[in-house]
Amino acid sequence: MAVHPFRVLHVRLDQGKGQVLELPGRAEHLGGSGLAAMLYQQFGDLTLPALHPSQPLIFAIGPLTGWFPLMSKTVCGFKSPYTEEYAETHAGGRLGLSLRFSGLDALVLTGAAARLTCLVVGSNRMEFHDVNFMKGMDVFTTGKHMRRYGKSNAGHRSTLRIGPAGENQSAFACINVDTYRHFGRLGAGAVLGAKQVKGLIVAGDRSLPLPENKNYPKLFKEIHTALTATDMMRKYHDLGTPINMAVLNGIRALPWRNLQATTDACIDDVSGERFAEQLLLRKTACAGCPVGCIHIGLLRQLFAEDHNYLYRQVGYDHETVFANGSMLGMTKAWKILVLLDEAEKQGLDAISSGVALAWATEAFEKGLISEKETLVPLKWDDVESYRLACVHLGLASNEFYRLLAQGVLKAAAVYGGADFACVLGQEMAGYATGENFFISQAMGFRYSHLDSAGYSYDQKTKDKDAAKAIEFMIEDEKARVMLCSLVSCLFARSAYTPEKVHEALIATDQPELAEALDSSVEAIRRTRWRLKLQSGYAPEQVQLPKRFLEVETWKGKMDPAYVEELKTLYAQKIREMGA
Ligand code: SF4
Repeated sequence: MAVHPFRVLHVRLDQGKGQVLELPGRAEHLGGSGLAAMLYQQFGDLTLPALHPSQPLIFAIGPLTGWFPLMSKTVCGFKSPYTEEYAETHAGGRLGLSLRFSGLDALVLTGAAARLTCLVVGSNRMEFHDVNFMKGMDVFTTGKHMRRYGKSNAGHRSTLRIGPAGENQSAFACINVDTYRHFGRLGAGAVLGAKQVKGLIVAGDRSLPLPENKNYPKLFKEIHTALTATDMMRKYHDLGTPINMAVLNGIRALPWRNLQATTDACIDDVSGERFAEQLLLRKTACAGCPVGCIHIGLLRQLFAEDHNYLYRQVGYDHETVFANGSMLGMTKAWKILVLLDEAEKQGLDAISSGVALAWATEAFEKGLISEKETLVPLKWDDVESYRLACVHLGLASNEFYRLLAQGVLKAAAVYGGADFACVLGQEMAGYATGENFFISQAMGFRYSHLDSAGYSYDQKTKDKDAAKAIEFMIEDEKARVMLCSLVSCLFARSAYTPEKVHEALIATDQPELAEALDSSVEAIRRTRWRLKLQSGYAPEQVQLPKRFLEVETWKGKMDPAYVEELKTLYAQKIREMGA
């Protein structure tokens, strides 16, 4: 059987034109992460700056999207304005299914529109709407105005948008996907902003035939049952990822007040349990997911006398709760929702903004900066000051906030305070579990806790065998490269073993992909690392700020010699993988 070519819609924003391309390579590049890297090689130019109009912004789905549960994510490939390296960010929501229902494997945007634009694409449709009136609008208001476009396919429609941070080309700017999901990290929102695209609607306007292979319904049922009728996914649906807050605090691995501590007695007031008891309103899910891990909290705000409230529904998870909670010394769960709501409005990645404000607070306390820079007096637990600072960060109100929104280390280079910058390639994720995690995030492909389970390795082992630890990370990364090319939610990694993925590819009549699975995953990993290395990434030069070496966890004090050993070995492996 012939392998179908990829169907890729290439939109040239500068020309107001688009074209569907049929590109070979499905058996080698699979989709998602592999397809995005392949398309960047074709359309991108690593020698040009990330925000150059000709750089592509790529959205890619995988060969199982729409046909199996939790195959619900989309990979966004781009050159990051934060690192000036090739980068990826992933999001759920409805986008994956909308692309599938549009008959597309990927969407590539190049060029920049002449004026602020809302783009609508479908299987046979492309509209460019002048939305200059939306200039400076927050994400919520933008969403309300965007409802008028692409109305005919409301059920399968996915809506992407940026806020002021994206328009201001902040390296913290995210792309909001269907309200509660995001292409969050490394500045994809700034790339969309540089292209003058305020919003993008993908109207899934075709039907999707189910595979006719008789094994398909049986396998679907088996996987669905494993995901829903066992305890495999229970924690994600129950308290959701904020369950980690109390667990990490208990083993002295939760960053508090810019990582000046790793445990605090206030934990009960900001834990996943407290959110669930007091603020949880409902749970929702990405399209094609029967689990529903997206927790939505109720935020009530008094807006006038006589008990007049407005209410907002605010998504929360472990990473955003840590960054805007323990990292900022918050003592009440509702305060965290206030900050998450503001970051959402501004179109800021809420992990990066929270961690950046934590650094700014310590810098303020130490006298490196003053209210002249911060415009509000930053103080742990002071929610209103932080909310205003978040607005300033989104609007890049002055030189200090403009620099801070490019990354904490950029601000520290001018004002000082690099020693206590909680940056591991980018602003840290919510695990102070130890050396293995710090190195895995600081050096991983996406600078993310999702590159490999370094945080989990730290929690399971006390020994300091660097070769063993790096071997674990490399193997774990390989499994994730496969999932990110399919593109599966990583929470389903226990369900989608390589054997199960093999079966799923056969059941969807893609035997060539199943046969080549192992070699294609190795090739994709090589291409991704190659792109990153070619864009200037030098793993040998990665440095951990001093703050990370001062951390004390359940295992005791950090061991700088072990950190160096991990770094040297990982750098060697990265060079080999990207050779
Ligand atoms: S488990 Fe959560 S993040 Fe994953 S697909 Fe389901 S709703 Fe989306």
